[in-house]
Amino acid sequence: MQLLDCHRHCHSAEALRASAGVAIVSSDPPTVEQWLWEGFSGPFSVGIHPWDVTEYSESQIDKLRLVASRPEVVAIGETGIDTVRHQAPVGVQQQVFSAHAQLSVELCKPLIIHIVKGLDPVVEVLRDAADEAKADVPPVIFHGFRGKPQMARQILRAVPNAYFSMGERFNAETLDWLRAQAPDRILAETDESTLPVTQIISRLGLSESEVAANVRRAFSCACGPRLS
Ligand SMILES: [Zn+2]
Repeated sequence: MQLLDCHRHCHSAEALRASAGVAIVSSDPPTVEQWLWEGFSGPFSVGIHPWDVTEYSESQIDKLRLVASRPEVVAIGETGIDTVRHQAPVGVQQQVFSAHAQLSVELCKPLIIHIVKGLDPVVEVLRDAADEAKADVPPVIFHGFRGKPQMARQILRAVPNAYFSMGERFNAETLDWLRAQAPDRILAETDESTLPVTQIISRLGLSESEVAANVRRAFSCACGPRLS
C-alpha cells in the first residue's frame, strides 16, 4: 500500500480505518484531536476551512498549533480563501489563512489550500510568510484544482513550490498543460468523492508510481522526510 491520496475527508470510523496510511485525511483541530485520542494514526492534515471561519481567535490558533505539532499530522489545511462561499469577510479569512501559513513554515509541514476566486490575497499571504522565513518554505498544495492553464502558470510564477491536486472533476486542458510543463507537480485526491483514488488517477491518465513519487516529494521538505 502506498500513499496516493493527498486530500480526503472521512465521516465515519470505518472510512478513517480504510484511509490509514493511504490517504491524508483532513479535518479541523477538535476533530483531529479526537481521532488522535481514539488512537487513529493518520496521516492527517489539520486546519480551519475557509467556510468555517467566522472570526480570528487566538485560542483557535493555539489549538491548531497544538494539534498540528503532532507527528501524525503531516500537513496544515485545508485552509485558504473563498470569496464566493463564506461566513467571514475576506480580510478575516486572510488573517486566519496567514496564521496557517506561518505555522506551515514554523513546523515545516506543507500547506493544503482551498481557493475560490481569491488568488491575489492568497499569494500576498504566501509571499509574506516566505519573506519572514528567509528560507525555503514548505510546498503549497492547491487542492481540488480546476483552474485554467493560465492560472496554473500564474501560480507557478508566484509560488514556485506549488503543487496541484486534482480530483474527480478537473480541467483537462490544465492537466495537459501541467503534464507538459510541470509533471512532477501533479497530485491526486478523493476529497469528498466516493471513487477510489486509483480510479481518479487512471481518469487523470497518470500512473500510480508517478503520483506516489510526487506525493513523496511534496511531503519531504527541507527539514526531512515526513512520510515513510
Ligand atoms: Zn476538502
